[in-house]
Amino acid sequence: MTGTFEIGDIKVKPGEVGKGSVARFRLGDSQEIKVPAIVVNGAKEGKTLLVTAGVHGREVCGIGALLDAVKRMDPDKMSGRVIAVTVANPLAVSLGTYITPHDSVNLSSPIFEPPNPAGSVTPRMAAGIRKALDACDYLIDMHANPLPSMPFVIMCQSIARSDEIRKEARRFAEAFGVTVIEMIKTAPVSMRDFATYMGKPGITPELAGNFFLWDSITSVGTRGILNCAKAIGILPGEPEPQAGVDPILRGNFVFHGMLRSNTGGFLKVHKKPGEFIREGDHVATILDCYGDVLQEVMMPTDGYCWAFLGGNLPQSWVLTEGDNIAYVFKKAN
Ligand SMILES: [Zn+2]
Repeated sequence: MTGTFEIGDIKVKPGEVGKGSVARFRLGDSQEIKVPAIVVNGAKEGKTLLVTAGVHGREVCGIGALLDAVKRMDPDKMSGRVIAVTVANPLAVSLGTYITPHDSVNLSSPIFEPPNPAGSVTPRMAAGIRKALDACDYLIDMHANPLPSMPFVIMCQSIARSDEIRKEARRFAEAFGVTVIEMIKTAPVSMRDFATYMGKPGITPELAGNFFLWDSITSVGTRGILNCAKAIGILPGEPEPQAGVDPILRGNFVFHGMLRSNTGGFLKVHKKPGEFIREGDHVATILDCYGDVLQEVMMPTDGYCWAFLGGNLPQSWVLTEGDNIAYVFKKAN
């Protein structure tokens, strides 16, 4: 039997579910805000999986996926435990912003930097989440892209310090059940990279449809989380194939770079997420207010786009010069 597990203000016995928080802080009106967490503590000993959602406040579908996954976990049948930080950045999530407006900090960074519980409000959230990261063996950090995009998983094998962790990082990433893309790094820039560097395979699933808790979007994340928990022996049973996801590409893929606008204007896109595009093919056109072409956007490599961003305005393809248009990935050499 495992002993009582403690994290933040949660204490949970084997075979039970505990709800509470990993960090607390007060807003200007003096009221307390929590970084909420659920611990599903298995009756038997095993690995610890940390799943975080809502690190970026616009990526709400990962929260829906995680809440559904936790509901489907029976601690009596589990070996090990799942720590679910369901709303990692409650301030950004409440306001629908990518980063915390109160101190303009992206929560992704301070989680892997030296903990700073005396810092501004985002490092204070991060210090609580970092304790959960220190306690885990594996990490799933749920993120999402706006539509149109394809669901996929980012891993960072390149930063692992042993062949064993490199191999396990891929096995864990593939268990999620969608396309896997390597983000080549030499130093950590995210919780995923830092976890993998520390010998705890970490992945970033990117669901398709950031703002929406729509069953067809969240169910991919729910199944992926449950699949990963099965692959590392926390849940009984074998991973199940994803249903209704198109495309799921098999093979070794790497991030190539961004497509960017060199002018302001109206974006027209000619391709779909996950569609194979040859180098030099016409991906998009930027038009001026008279319908004249300002920029033709060409594919820089044989590869694919995982999402068309259309700049910084949510859900609008109106570009300012220098805005990002799409993420490009390709087969690894
Ligand atoms: Zn994100």
